[in-house]
Amino acid sequence: MTRRRQIYEGKAKILYEGPDQHTLVQYFKDDATAFNNQKHDVLDGKGVLNNRISEHIMTHLTRIGVPNHFIKRLNMREQLIKKVEIIPIEVVVRNVAAGSLCKRLGLEEGMQLPRSIVEYYYKDDALGDPLVSEEHVTALGWANPPELDEMMSIALRVNDFLTGMFAGIGISLVDFKVEFGRLFENDILRIVLADEISPDSCRLWDTETKNVLDKDRFRQDMGGVVEAYQEVARRMGIMPESAGTDQKGPRLVSDQG
Ligand code: 5GP
Repeated sequence: MTRRRQIYEGKAKILYEGPDQHTLVQYFKDDATAFNNQKHDVLDGKGVLNNRISEHIMTHLTRIGVPNHFIKRLNMREQLIKKVEIIPIEVVVRNVAAGSLCKRLGLEEGMQLPRSIVEYYYKDDALGDPLVSEEHVTALGWANPPELDEMMSIALRVNDFLTGMFAGIGISLVDFKVEFGRLFENDILRIVLADEISPDSCRLWDTETKNVLDKDRFRQDMGGVVEAYQEVARRMGIMPESAGTDQKGPRLVSDQG
């Protein structure tokens, strides 16, 4: 087994150095966390599903010209990605009122928003990822105005694509979170989509029954988390109906150097 250097370990993923200096390997863990790490569990098979779901979405985004870090899936839990400089902002796009928007503004959950709303959150666990304005982002130098414009424009294109894709399989895209990175290609700086897009980072409701098919099942102790992610994968056509979640793929090697 070749030893790889670990670059970073997050709550649900690990980044290892890739085969060359421009790439990384993104490993999807089974860990689930919520409420700024206060709630934690290991959900067998979640990482495998998120790897496949994120691969499918990123591949389709590439086909329609949305720049992103994805290169190829390597195995059940790992994908090869372009090394980018992560911008410390989470961009949330909302189509239907839910989650923190309802708490903050007293809106009724499930209310269709008059138009899609884009929000920015500063990525800082110690502060609990606070909501920030465009002014904060640019004045504090997290991203400059053209970068922020590009992030908003890509986020809205992703929203259009995902809304249509999920609508076609009977799922409403309530909201989602994306992250971006800076990529230098031939001395040109590009803003590209990074991280992952999966039921961990989206709110997905069955259009007919309003059944929750995302991480809120974990946050709200509803149970059936992996089964819900499996249902999303099955409807996306990336998992045979009979497949279980016992295919864990390569396990973490504890002696990574
Ligand atoms: P809310 O602000 O309502 O809690 O979340 C809005 C959307 O962004 C939800 O789809 C939620 O899953 C996603 N989101 C917000 N913050 C995070 C985060 O730190 N990690 C992940 N995976 N998703 C997030």
